[in-house]
Amino acid sequence: MAELSQILKQATGVVAARGEGVQLFDEDDRRYLDFTAGIGVTSTGHCHPRVVAAAQEQVGKIIHAQYTTVMHRPLLTLVDRLGEVLPQHLDRMFFANSGSEAIEAALRLSRQATGRPNVIVFHGGFHGRTVAAASMTTSGTKFRSGFSPLMAGVHVSPFPDPGHFGWPVEQATDFALSQLDYVLQTLSTPADTAAFFVEPVLGEGGYVPANERFFAGLRERADEHGILLVVDEVQTGFGRTGKFWGGDHFGSQPDILVTAKGLASGFPLSGIAASSALMEKAWPGSQGGTYGANAVACAAAVATLDVIQDEGLVQNSAERGAQLKQALQMVADKHEQITDVRGLGLMVGNEFRDANGKPDPVTAAAVQQEAARRGLLLLTCGAWSQVVRFIPALVVSPDEIDEAATVWSDAVSAITT
Ligand code: PMP
Repeated sequence: MAELSQILKQATGVVAARGEGVQLFDEDDRRYLDFTAGIGVTSTGHCHPRVVAAAQEQVGKIIHAQYTTVMHRPLLTLVDRLGEVLPQHLDRMFFANSGSEAIEAALRLSRQATGRPNVIVFHGGFHGRTVAAASMTTSGTKFRSGFSPLMAGVHVSPFPDPGHFGWPVEQATDFALSQLDYVLQTLSTPADTAAFFVEPVLGEGGYVPANERFFAGLRERADEHGILLVVDEVQTGFGRTGKFWGGDHFGSQPDILVTAKGLASGFPLSGIAASSALMEKAWPGSQGGTYGANAVACAAAVATLDVIQDEGLVQNSAERGAQLKQALQMVADKHEQITDVRGLGLMVGNEFRDANGKPDPVTAAAVQQEAARRGLLLLTCGAWSQVVRFIPALVVSPDEIDEAATVWSDAVSAITT
């Protein structure tokens, strides 16, 4: 048991006892600013009173009914409410429990609908930890090494990451699209390619936004070749980037949209949305699972949507995100180890590089731990774990952003000077 608790504590050693909004308290009642939001899950903050009330009320009515046999009201309400925020043509949903499972569902549907075996993914993408999802993940060897053979039929093409080569966005986009054509010509011909799987902003891959021309290029190739465009909104959905969907920044036009994390404020719930015509290609019984669309999780998701709407959280994400980025850029301007501050909305990353321009995960981890000692919880990301990311709940206030930026500035100074 002692060993297990060591594993679970990981870098910060913080054992959460309770949470309120962006604040988290450990078992000794020490207060932390939680700028991890459980990896972006607690979109409405820890224990938002309306989410708590909805879940508590539902627990006393029906905890679980397997919806392929017996439907329940929270799911019916949730589907209606999601219809208001999803692109109109995505009028059918399937629900599961985690992002990885939803990715698997999108993969199954893509193969079923097209009768084609392969998928093309993009460098630095993260799609989950089940073996199929890990096979489609290229944001770090830790996610895929040691459990080969991985799933066959996955081909990788460059993401338009300007920082990787030090190129302007236009050049990175030209390169990504021309390499995609090369992959379609040489490795996975259109006749063999079921789908493109792409994130609007690389999440685990280091908070690198895509762009409009890249998504237009994906859509064009998808239409030309009958390939499905699967947009993984697991990390970027539900207002995280300052628009409701991350793809809204770029006119993403998905055939299948994958969602999880922010959907239910911390309850395990995920889903895919597609058109009825596409969903009908999934034969009965091929998509399912015991716990998908759990009634308590659905009730929490409905309350989450209410809170996002009533409290203007998408706009707050955009405004507080701009404030956060500006504050972090001021810190970066004083420390040459931080070479880039980037992201959209409340999804902001700080890139650490050494004097030779190489990714610097050691300094990134040291600063992350120093910030935790000073009461600010953060996560790292990036293929080398060289990025420290800020993802507070969308309810974060201007004062909490200022407080976090001050702690960050002190932590960076303590480690780098
Ligand atoms: N896709 C993306 C973009 C993610 O960020 C994640 C989780 N970090 C997943 C899929 C997998 O989600 P889960 O951990 O719930 O399986």
